[in-house]
Amino acid sequence: MQTHIITRDHIVYSFDREHSPVRKIDPGDKIRFETYDARTGTIRSEDNLLDRPHPRGANPATGPVFVKGAEPGDTLRVEILGIELASQGFIAIKAGLGNLGHLAEKYVTRLVQIEDGIVHYDDRIHFPVRPMIGVIGTAPSGEAVPTLYPGPHGGNMDHNDVKVGSCVYLPVFVEGALFGVGDVHAAMGDAEVTMTGIEICAEVTVLVNLIKGESITRPWIETDASWITTGDAPKLADAITIACEEMANLLQQKLSVSFDDAYLLMSAIGDVRISQSCQPNQFPSTIRVVFPKID
Ligand code: CA
Repeated sequence: MQTHIITRDHIVYSFDREHSPVRKIDPGDKIRFETYDARTGTIRSEDNLLDRPHPRGANPATGPVFVKGAEPGDTLRVEILGIELASQGFIAIKAGLGNLGHLAEKYVTRLVQIEDGIVHYDDRIHFPVRPMIGVIGTAPSGEAVPTLYPGPHGGNMDHNDVKVGSCVYLPVFVEGALFGVGDVHAAMGDAEVTMTGIEICAEVTVLVNLIKGESITRPWIETDASWITTGDAPKLADAITIACEEMANLLQQKLSVSFDDAYLLMSAIGDVRISQSCQPNQFPSTIRVVFPKID
């Protein structure tokens, strides 16, 4: 087993089957990705506002990495082993945008310091970090998808459960999978109401394995305690439907139950959580359904 280091010189702004891989790895290898923040490290002071698009794009993913032996119809199993945060991140408001856009009249950027697992929001307000990975995915089979968007390939899903100790299962749509990671947050509230969490550079360590011949339609996540399915769609209700359909299928497999029982159990103890819904904007909402592991 090898550990590969992929530096942040190697970033992409889309998941694209045409991208040249930066490294070829064997299943079972570890990768340490240096990731950029959502603005590629360009926000250096509180005078740097999000009042213009980033010239190259947003949310770069480090990679892509080619997984030897991965073919369409396989599944990538990515275990998140570590997320080390940089010492400073930023969080911002875009005037007129986000869930309170009608009240937010101006652009605001706040730089925050991170020390020993604590976010120093200012001199007075401190709270623990909640590191999570916003962008994780593989290349889609068709057109490239910018790293701003989620989809069946993963991408900008912003699920708070993509964190240390979780396993993310991703579909393989192209040879080698072309896997990438980026857009870490030191903390991000569910829904990400201003459109930013605490955006930060990081070093993400993962263990990548390949499940041959087992196909999935879209990402799902496993933690010690839960099975978690995902959905995304322009309308929140449609994203919920997708994530629930995924959970109905997963529960039928995991618990050997009928659709009716899967549906009933989901209604009893499955929690539908909003991951990303900073509406209105052009981005889809993302949803996860969290179901406790039971025998
Ligand atoms: Ca994000």
